[in-house]
Amino acid sequence: MHELSITQSVVDTVCERMPDATVRRIRLDIGRLSGVVADSVRFCFDLVAEGTVLDGAVLEIVESPGRARCRACDAEFEVNDLLALCGCGAQELELLAGQELMIKEVEVAA
Ligand SMILES: [Zn+2]
Repeated sequence: MHELSITQSVVDTVCERMPDATVRRIRLDIGRLSGVVADSVRFCFDLVAEGTVLDGAVLEIVESPGRARCRACDAEFEVNDLLALCGCGAQELELLAGQELMIKEVEVAA
């Protein structure tokens, strides 16, 4: 399962950076074009976090829209699937955003 290994690497990253922290809240930014299913990450999180510094932490996921620029007409617009076309009919799109998966914020207990 793809999301299980992604969730595992997010938890591993936080544990490596903050081995002594107690994390209250973590916010992930998941791009709509990343292929990562936010609900599956939520499902895996409690399981993976158990017994780590993230045990009991609240997981917030922000799904950010994809953005692309058309190489033909230079228009910029939102895309939410990988088969998007520009309004001008061109298929040559440069993806600007939407494929990322980032840890945006980690809130630790004082
Ligand atoms: Zn275009």
